[in-house]
This record gives sequence, C-alpha cells and structure tokens, in this order.
Amino acid sequence: MAQKERSFRDRPINMDEEGHSKWVYTRIPRGRWHTRRLIASWILLLFFIATPFIKVNGYPLILLDIPARKFIIFGAIFWAQDTFILALLMLAFVLFIVLFTVTFGRIWCGWACPQTIFLEMVFRKVEFLIEGDYQKRRKLDQGPLSTEKVLKKTLKHGIFVLISILMTNIFLMWFIGYEKLFQIISDPVGTHFYGFLIMLAVSLFFYWMYAYFREQLCTMICPYGRMQGVLLDQRSIVVSYDYVRGEPRGKQAVGDCIDCKLCIAVCPTAIDIRNGTQLECISCANCIDACNEVMSKTGKPPHLIRHDSAVGIEKGHTSVWNWRNRAYSVVLLLLVAFFVFMLTTRSMVETTILRTPGLIYQENSNGTISNVYNIKMVNKTHEDMNLELRLLSHPSGEIKLAGSGIHIPDQGLYESTFVLFLPRNEIKSGKIILTFGLYKDQQLLETTEATFVGPVTNTSE
Ligand code: SF4
Ligand code: SF4
Repeated sequence: MAQKERSFRDRPINMDEEGHSKWVYTRIPRGRWHTRRLIASWILLLFFIATPFIKVNGYPLILLDIPARKFIIFGAIFWAQDTFILALLMLAFVLFIVLFTVTFGRIWCGWACPQTIFLEMVFRKVEFLIEGDYQKRRKLDQGPLSTEKVLKKTLKHGIFVLISILMTNIFLMWFIGYEKLFQIISDPVGTHFYGFLIMLAVSLFFYWMYAYFREQLCTMICPYGRMQGVLLDQRSIVVSYDYVRGEPRGKQAVGDCIDCKLCIAVCPTAIDIRNGTQLECISCANCIDACNEVMSKTGKPPHLIRHDSAVGIEKGHTSVWNWRNRAYSVVLLLLVAFFVFMLTTRSMVETTILRTPGLIYQENSNGTISNVYNIKMVNKTHEDMNLELRLLSHPSGEIKLAGSGIHIPDQGLYESTFVLFLPRNEIKSGKIILTFGLYKDQQLLETTEATFVGPVTNTSE
C-alpha cells in the first residue's frame, strides 16, 4: 500500500501532518439509508423540542431540576434520596449502549447521538441549501471575496447563530421548564445578568462546535469511538466493505469496486471504509447509499458496502448473536428487573430525622429530658398529604412539633423542627435509639430511626 494510503493509520483523516485540521467537504448524501436516518432524526428532534412542553398529570414529561435535586423522568419523580435508583437507570442505559455497540457497532453515533443529528441533519442541511454541493462549497471557500460569497456566508452563519440560540433555550427548558424560561425571557436582562452571560457562552459554544469544530469531536475527542477497539469483535455488525467481492479494485480490474471514491466523498468524517473498520466511522451508512448507486449504474449487485461482520464478509451469512451480547443481554435484563423492583417498592414518603446540630439535651423540672430534632420529608406522590409523627419505641415520649401538623403538598418538601420529651427513667444510658412512625389516616407509611441523648444514669444509685 502506498505511503499516502497508509496515512489513515497515523492520524485522523481530517488532520494534516502538522496537526492542523483539514476542512471536510462532504458530498450531499442521498439514498434509502439516508432517508431512514432523516426520519429517525426528525422524530428525535421533535422529542427534544416537544418534551419540555409535554405535561403528564400537570408535570413535565422530563425535568432535570438540578438545584432542587429533583428529576422527573417519564412521569416518575426522583429525589436526591433516589440516587441509587437513578444510578441503576444510568447503568442500564450505559449497558444498553454497550450491548448495541457489541452487536451493531457505533449505531448510536450515526442514528441517535445529538452531535451527529444536529451536525448532519440540521447545520449541514442549512449549509447544503445555501452553498450547494461539495464542489460549489470548495470553490466558494477558495475563491476571492465577492458579493455572492459575503451574502451566502452571512446568511449561513446568521442562521447557525439563530439555531444555536434556539438549541440553548430548548436545552435549558429541560432543566428549568418552559414556564420559568418564558418568565426569564420576559424579565429585563439585568435581572438575570449572569444567567444571560451563561446562555450567551453556551450559544457561542454550540455555534463554534457546528460551524467550525464539527466532526473533530467524533474523531478526536469523543471517548466512545475509542472504545470500539475493545467492544467490537469479528462478529459485530458494522458498516463494512466486501473486499472479497470488491478487490482487486479499479475500472479495468475484475473486482466490483471501480475505485470511484464516492464512498469517501459522502463520508462526514472523510474516511475510506475500504481500509476496514476505523474509529472515525460513525455508522451513518452514507457510503452504503453512494456505493449502491454506483453498483446500480455499473449493473453490479448492490451491497458491496453493507452492514455485515468481518466473519460475514469472509464466510457469508453470520448470526447477530454471540456469547458476548448474550451475556450482556442477561445482565441488562437483570438490571432492568432490579430497577423496576426498586422503583415500584420505594417508599412514597422519604423522612429524615436528625438531632439539631450544636444542641445538647435539656433537663426539665417535670422530670423529663428533651432533645431538639430537625425533620425533613419528601412527598414523592401526586397527592397532598396530612401526616402524623409518632414515637413507636417509647410510648411515654411526647413530641412537640413546630407549626400546626405536617402538611406536604404533592411533590413537595416539608422541613421543620420538633422537641421530644422522654421521662428520665427511660434513658438507661447516655444515648438511645428511637423509632418513629409516620402515619397517614391511621396507616403506617414508614418508620425511621434517630438517636436521643441524655445524662448517663448512675446504676449504683
Ligand atoms: S463507492 Fe463503491 S465502487 Fe466506488 S470506490 Fe467506494 S466501494 Fe468502490
Ligand atoms: S465510513 Fe461510511 S458509515 Fe462510516 S462514517 Fe463514513 S460514510 Fe458513514
């Protein structure tokens, strides 16, 4: 193989020998796979835009309220106390991606990754519309400054800036909800000055990412692409070139590949898939469409480039199942079952009772000892609750709660203080464990424990 052809092993194809980025002029993709991806992208974009506006029982479908440490995911509400359940969900999601990668390569990148969807299906589409196909774009970029160039570049970058601002606002709605965002927008800028600066910075970052940095995120930064080396094996179904059929390549050669290089021209990362699976390949399938078009014109059977495994290319048909994805599937099923179990059996009210820091016990004239407590409750249900706190372990104890009873609105928080009085003779040692019960309509919802401190009783008395 010539030195030039082997350079793909030394560095990403969109980088020159000095390490500077090389601009990729992608040919406008078209074909069946591209249409399928376009439809999938529209559905995902619709989901991204519409989700903050969809309400279920008056609550957003998804809300990631980080300051309140409250996350609503498809109607289920998770508080900071549910971190374990959320971690299980995240773990299941990561395993799901690993399972799909082992089986179908970087299918996530080409079909669902926000970076690809916004770059390929939004920003590049605008660029194609304004500046035309790859030869026209190259000519425009390399040509002298002209009225056409200024107009086209101004229009393109103006639209890029607008889309970036829009993306930032939609993105923010996932975290604060649309009502709060609309209120912030209607307030004077000075009221939310630092928030405005952050929004501006994020918008500029998106603009820079999609106007200039582009596919370099996938080829040089994203760690997921680098994981391919350990996740893929000979049986993984990836976008593959059928070298058995295609070689030797060339217009006069006997192989089916006529070396037209159209598969490289449509590739958003500018790689030559005929060199084998590479970490820059995002599984977009543009090269499959381009090559199928060529095969149709040359009267050869389609699918010289197709979704297949290394074993499939070499030996013919291969199953998508192997011991690795079977094992991952079992672990994923167990994880999902455990997650569902934890979700359905979690308590509806989460209570934390802690002695107020810095305060010691009080000896009272009526022969009791008192401790002061902070109580915090989270209502995870969609109904308002009137609750009652009882001391189960020591019936002779008396609770004096600040305020008038415990009322927690749906999805609300309750924080208060109470004083607990215990007869002195109940405290056999300096520190005892108490059990509290939380009741709703005389029904015990949950129990929780706390410590009580008092004077150490002299047993020889
Ligand atoms: S598009 Fe097909 S025929 Fe053309 S170079 Fe690529 S693999 Fe060969
Ligand atoms: S090699 Fe083919 S599937 Fe991979 S990124 Fe390039 S065009 Fe897409």
